[in-house]
Amino acid sequence: MKLLIMGRPGAGKGTQAVNIREYYNIPHISTGDIFRANLKGQTKLGLLAKTYMDKGLLVPDSVTIDLVKDRLSQPDCKEGFLLDGFPRNLEQAKALDEFLKSRNESLDAVLDIDVKPEVLIDRIVGRRVCPTCGATFHIKNNPPKVEGVCDKCGGKLIQRNDDTYETAENRLKVYDNQTAPLLDYYKNQHLLKTVNGDQDFAKVFEDIKKVLTK
Ligand code: ADP
Ligand code: ADP
Ligand code: ZN
Repeated sequence: MKLLIMGRPGAGKGTQAVNIREYYNIPHISTGDIFRANLKGQTKLGLLAKTYMDKGLLVPDSVTIDLVKDRLSQPDCKEGFLLDGFPRNLEQAKALDEFLKSRNESLDAVLDIDVKPEVLIDRIVGRRVCPTCGATFHIKNNPPKVEGVCDKCGGKLIQRNDDTYETAENRLKVYDNQTAPLLDYYKNQHLLKTVNGDQDFAKVFEDIKKVLTK
């Protein structure tokens, strides 16, 4: 299974990616997670990415595309992968197509988790993440058993730097301008599978399995 998961910021990509990764036994590759891990390690890439992420802007293609190519070249991606947060513009999509073509590979499906923008600010601002194990919670929709503490590993939950009201609004604008055109791009390739993401967590995953087995 070679999959992309798309959707507006806060649509539930990361949340559903965990389910898909376990169900299909494929690596989950999130460019946002890679940038955040680099920032934690204070690498050059992490520090560069931070200046864009904090403003809700895209990290330049020149670094992002090479990063993804390197990751997809690793042996664990040979049989399949789930790309989350990449591609985010037409340049990245074309670079991915070319890369896969050069390896005689192709995508099996592009999942679009569709959620109306009205719901998303609340999802983004209420998101809490565990920097230790990567688990994601929501203060209202999916609260941890003990406030501020990760259910999975006991780590202290944090709010992402870019999960503020202002940055979220900007990220939604960037999505509309740069990422949304990719839906047509993949529709034309007959790869696009849209799922309603404005439903209960479990129902969204049921619908994902349904569209992927069709
Ligand atoms: P969300 O899941 O809320 O959409 P991500 O974790 O995917 O957020 O992305 C957070 C930030 O990381 C983005 O706002 C952007 O600055 C940067 N980023 C992630 N993926 C890409 C990409 N493919 N191209 C450029 N920037 C990216
Ligand atoms: P993305 O990776 O697309 O930015 P996340 O998976 O991190 O989105 O989800 C954003 C926030 O919304 C998180 O706090 C998550 O717990 C919450 N969330 C995810 N899916 C749902 C859902 N189906 N219903 C309500 N809240 C959700
Ligand atoms: Zn944890």
